[in-house]
Amino acid sequence: MRNSWWLGRAGGGALAAVLMLCPALALAQMDEATLNSRLLDIREQSRFVPDKALAELLTLAPQVAGKSPYTRAELMIQISASRMRMGDNAGALAGAEQVIAYGRSLKDDVIVAKGMLNKVYVLFDKAEVDAAHHLAFVAEKLAMTTTNAALRTQATITAGQSYAEQGNFPQALVKLQQALDLSRTVRDDPAMLAAALNALTELYTQMKEYDKASDCLDELLAETEKLHSPGRMAMAKTTEYGLAIDSGQPKRALRALLYNLELVRKLGAERMVGATLVNLSDSYLKQGDYPRAAQYALEALRVTQRSNDESTAGVAHANLGQAYLWMGRIAEGKQHYEAGMARYERENNKPYLQAALREYGEALERSGDMAGAVSAYHRERELSNELFEKQRQKSVLELQEKYETEKKQRQIELLRRENQLKGAEIDNRRLQQRIWWLLALVFALASVMIGMLYRKVRNANARLEEKNLELKAQSTLDPLTSLYNRRHFQEFMRGFKPQDKPRPDIEKRVERHDDIVGALFLLDVDHFKHINDTYGHAAGDAVLKMIAENLRIALRETDMIVRWGGEEFLAFLPASPRHGLDDIARRILTGISSQAIRYQEHEISVNVSVGFSPFPLSAGGTPLPWERAVNLIDMALYMAKSHGRNRAYGVRGFANFERTSMEAIEQDLELAWREGFVDLSVVSGDAAPAALTPAAAA
Ligand code: GH3
Ligand code: MG
Ligand code: MG
Repeated sequence: MRNSWWLGRAGGGALAAVLMLCPALALAQMDEATLNSRLLDIREQSRFVPDKALAELLTLAPQVAGKSPYTRAELMIQISASRMRMGDNAGALAGAEQVIAYGRSLKDDVIVAKGMLNKVYVLFDKAEVDAAHHLAFVAEKLAMTTTNAALRTQATITAGQSYAEQGNFPQALVKLQQALDLSRTVRDDPAMLAAALNALTELYTQMKEYDKASDCLDELLAETEKLHSPGRMAMAKTTEYGLAIDSGQPKRALRALLYNLELVRKLGAERMVGATLVNLSDSYLKQGDYPRAAQYALEALRVTQRSNDESTAGVAHANLGQAYLWMGRIAEGKQHYEAGMARYERENNKPYLQAALREYGEALERSGDMAGAVSAYHRERELSNELFEKQRQKSVLELQEKYETEKKQRQIELLRRENQLKGAEIDNRRLQQRIWWLLALVFALASVMIGMLYRKVRNANARLEEKNLELKAQSTLDPLTSLYNRRHFQEFMRGFKPQDKPRPDIEKRVERHDDIVGALFLLDVDHFKHINDTYGHAAGDAVLKMIAENLRIALRETDMIVRWGGEEFLAFLPASPRHGLDDIARRILTGISSQAIRYQEHEISVNVSVGFSPFPLSAGGTPLPWERAVNLIDMALYMAKSHGRNRAYGVRGFANFERTSMEAIEQDLELAWREGFVDLSVVSGDAAPAALTPAAAA
């Protein structure tokens, strides 16, 4: 098992060799820039010869008085780091805590993060791996909040290495690639690029990405060349060895190691000598040269004991154990192997432990210790499962995260589409609404127009109706008296069906006094011409109106009163008691004669003459048509005139009709009456009773 991890940890700087040639310089008072440059160099020196570095740092301590906090912090950090490399972890830890406290007192995150990184390396050296990893991530987070590029690079490298140690290669790769990008921006520490390349090459090697590792290594070697730093070259060569041995180039691997061994021995870098010796033993193990492997492992053990490098000592034990097992020295082999694995276990370096267990199992199997081999395999299996489980959990978590992200994106996409759909739907609905509104508007307008037209038509109809009524009224009513006119009466009579149908049996019947009969009354104003002539036409008109009014009063509402001619009126009474007709005639006569009207200063009173008869009037069983009946009562009216006016003559009926004819009666009513063919009643308008017989009348 080779030892390489620690070399990549934390960035480096130019080699301290130059400084070591002129230590007297440290004693003179230095300006800040010179002091910082010295500290950077000592940082590199500390990696190889920490005791010398510490001594020099202590002599520089008085120089930091009055210098910036960064310079003071850097000195403290380098002292702590040197103590760690000398195996004084307690002192180193105290120093790191001091730096953190100093940074916190200044509220300076750069110093705090640097102190934390320092503490990470000490914790790792103490094999407190989980705490180291945890703090590494905290330090990285803090460092990334600062603008210090070198610090950011160093913290990112450390975080990447921590992920690699946890077996989380994908995350380690992300970090180390970031670190490489960052390192290219660092201006004040040229070793940062080499440090990042170194860590990345190691990771690619571990991931068995040999092509990428090889490309990375080429750049690493080229960059290291530029640094003119033997120490850096030793680091790069160690990395080259790792890649060469893993990718099946044992000769190149060995060349790199031997180059290194010579170099670090010349530098007096004890820890690196130990590490190189371990790697040499590893290399020979792989080539099957077990005695040589054992020899280098033993030498490594001696060196690591001197340099208090327990971690490298662990690898040396494992390698020695393996060599012994191959050589058949089983008990010794097992003892050393177990010691080596105990160190891995303390470091909680599971990938290393797993590889070691597998190699152990194989070695035990070969040496015939089947029980031991099974036990080793069993442990390896458990660890592998544990690692696998961890990896699986990580993968599951990553997958879940990815799934959640994708799900969210899908949901967002769905929502977007839904929104689009809804948008289209809303547009559609808006359009529909618009159409409906338009239709409604058109409908409303049409309704209003139809309504207006309808009203217009209705009004026109109403007006027409009115006009019609007016016309009808005009055509049926007399304008002066508002009585029916003659035409209306004629029309009325055309439709009038007399109740009394010709019935021969009734002819013989004795007419009863309380019969209900229709009746016709015809009136003519007496000496009306005289009124006109005396008072004027208007006075005549007023008289006509008065007569109409009197007729309305004298007759019933159901009776039809007609203005028959100029100053003639006709009344048709549909139902009156037969014996009451004379009374009606009298009522008409007295009603009119008793009424005087005032016209201007004149009191005008008039009489009328009346002819009347029941209607229908039957002559010889045949009812007379209304025209002939009216003609007959006109003759009766004429008789009233000729017998003195202001009186009424009523045709009651006929007698001895078989000896005359209707034509004869119509020829001369008075004669027919005298000859006894007509039954007349005479009603006088005066108080004096009228003559009741033709003889009396004569
Ligand atoms: P008699 O008693 O014989 O009926 O006499 P009389 O004057 O009434 O007779 P006559 O028939 O000769 O006169 C009727 C007059 O009535 C003639 C006409 O000038 C008048 N007359 C007809 N119609 C109207 C009318 O509407 N208004 C007025 N003021 N006079 C009218
Ligand atoms: Mg007349
Ligand atoms: Mg008259």
